[in-house]
Amino acid sequence: MSVPPKSVAVPALDLKTQYPAIRDEIEAVVRRVIESQMFVLGPEVEQLEAELADYCGVPHAIGCASGTDALILPLMARGVGPGDEVITTPYSFFATAGSIWRTGARPVFVDIEPDTYNIDPSRIEAAITPRTRVVIPVHLYGQTADMDPIAAIARKHDLFVLEDAAQAIGAAYQGRRAGSLGHASAFSFYPSKNLGGFGDAGMMMTGDPVFARSLARLRVHGMEPKYLHHEVGFNSRLDALQAAVLRVKLRHLDTWTTQRREAAARYDRLFQARRLTRWVTLPVERPGNVHVFNQYVIRVPAPLRDPLREALTARQIGTEIYYPIPLHLQPCFATLGHHPGDFPIAEAAARETLALPMYPELSEEQQRYVVGSIRQFLDAHGPARAA
Ligand SMILES: *Cc1c(COP(=O)(O)O)cnc(C)c1O
Repeated sequence: MSVPPKSVAVPALDLKTQYPAIRDEIEAVVRRVIESQMFVLGPEVEQLEAELADYCGVPHAIGCASGTDALILPLMARGVGPGDEVITTPYSFFATAGSIWRTGARPVFVDIEPDTYNIDPSRIEAAITPRTRVVIPVHLYGQTADMDPIAAIARKHDLFVLEDAAQAIGAAYQGRRAGSLGHASAFSFYPSKNLGGFGDAGMMMTGDPVFARSLARLRVHGMEPKYLHHEVGFNSRLDALQAAVLRVKLRHLDTWTTQRREAAARYDRLFQARRLTRWVTLPVERPGNVHVFNQYVIRVPAPLRDPLREALTARQIGTEIYYPIPLHLQPCFATLGHHPGDFPIAEAAARETLALPMYPELSEEQQRYVVGSIRQFLDAHGPARAA
């Protein structure tokens, strides 16, 4: 085994490399907010809302405390609750199904497409019942779900479409941005997202001004105007400090997205050049889509996945498994009565996928080291040897 070059340890995500490039801008706005002594909602948040609405091409954006709340509040505003069903994917971050459960509604899972890992529109209609109220497609890893067929099904059955766009800010589908493709959408600014704050933050979007108003009310205890409460809402306000940081970062987002896409293309080329694509399935970008690569996720035969991950860890390469246990098999959802085999495509993805280091500053040298290390592992242990 070759010794890793000292300068190349490759973390799964490296926020520290990014910070110096924006330090001066960030420090200036943080100072501005501190001097203003206005820390919750207020003008910074309103400007972020306006800028993000414009960025995504959606009329209304409403800041809130997290991406999870950005899913729960629209469900609540829609009146979703006990006795209702919400269709979503079994292969996502927990919050997608957790938010449905929190409203008292039942998450109804629909298996995914094997190549994009997004909900398979052709399986949705079979899951619809008279209780179905909402569909939540997730734009996983930074690529939008196939939204036109989903919208057609939703129209036919009078369902509300709530996009979980937490991983997909800036992604596009047929020329339209993620967040503008459903009736409402949810974004997260958790630090590991493509637009990440310095803590928790989220954003809801919608084209419907009346719905926007109920979302804005729900985040402040259902209050409008001051001290008049129409319903029991939440404290899910967005901090001015987060908004100020996010406004600075938003100005860089397109550059970072381009760098992520370039890094993804370099990975593709390196895997192809080293003749690894027989054993390593690369991410696909569907025609008409702009993938923003929140994650670059490969797929290897299941028995090799965990040993490969260990080998990469030993070579100081950070990886992650998104997600090792599909949502329908989580212990907290046991009462839904699901069993292994219910959603075989999601279950296979959970066994076979591995997210490689991905961030805008990832260098070609680092990527050569990652792909070279995978090559070494497969030469020593993999099916390539058996072949
Ligand atoms: C991150 C994420 C969320 C939740 O966002 P938080 O800000 O962590 O609450 C929801 N759905 C998906 C797909 C996510 O990746």
